[in-house]
Amino acid sequence: MTAVHCKRFPNWLKKTLPSDGAAVETARLLERLGLATICQSAKCPNIWECFSRRIATILILGRQCTRKCRFCAVGDGMPAAVDEDEPRRVAEAIRQLGLRHAVITSVTRDDLPDGGAAHFTKVVEEILSVNGATTVEVLTPDFAGRTDVLRQIIEAGPVIFGHNVETVPRLYSQVRPGADYSRSLRLLEAVRELAPPSLLTKSGLMVGLGETLNEVLDVFRDLRRVGCDIVTVGQYLQPTAESLPVNEFVTPDTFQELEKKALEMGFRAAFCGPFVRSSYLADRFVVRRSAGESAERTMN
Ligand code: SF4
Repeated sequence: MTAVHCKRFPNWLKKTLPSDGAAVETARLLERLGLATICQSAKCPNIWECFSRRIATILILGRQCTRKCRFCAVGDGMPAAVDEDEPRRVAEAIRQLGLRHAVITSVTRDDLPDGGAAHFTKVVEEILSVNGATTVEVLTPDFAGRTDVLRQIIEAGPVIFGHNVETVPRLYSQVRPGADYSRSLRLLEAVRELAPPSLLTKSGLMVGLGETLNEVLDVFRDLRRVGCDIVTVGQYLQPTAESLPVNEFVTPDTFQELEKKALEMGFRAAFCGPFVRSSYLADRFVVRRSAGESAERTMN
């Protein structure tokens, strides 16, 4: 992997922040509705850009995660009871933001018998009932391997079902000790088997944690083997002092090479770049019909 090993950010990781007030308005709107976002909780580097465009990825099922992944800034600890009013408020936020494509994600809830699948389902249903022209993408945890809970979410009508493998299998014990690479692949495979072809499956990973280029390409092959349609790859950035340090900064040329190789392997779409996150510019994968018609639910 062509990369730079240094403590300071290379030039390609410097961003100009938008100076209008739209980002603050987005944050206030979400706060008024009592909603969390992965943008804020994970300290996403794109937050000013996305919030300025009135785009946010809402984090459901609380702010406490039951896993302790070492790349993630989301808090762990005792999770709160499921907020039964949350689906209504999520749908309302999407209406007020005017989002044409909504990405919904959650913390991992190993404490819930269904991992929160029924709540995910209610959120998707409520969004679609309030926002008829909006397309929905879910980015789910692994539900502790319970593939039987997936059908209800699929039937609620998301156009994209995402689940991130996050890193190469060799680094799981350091990066995501509570997760299992094969289990994540099985989830993506199960979604592909249960869902109609019009629903796209998607996965993403971070680079810069010490993986090799060949290991990333092996992950691409594994994802294609389970029928994954879309892959995203972005630079890992250490979100807190306690999180894993960055091992290397991967160059933009290497990201381009990864994108090219992913497309050659048969992914329907690939998005690789230093600032790419699984929800970054996520609407680029959704093709819509002309104005006045309902949202197209597939990518051509
Ligand atoms: S890339 Fe995704 S997580 Fe990051 S700010 Fe944008 S919508 Fe939020």
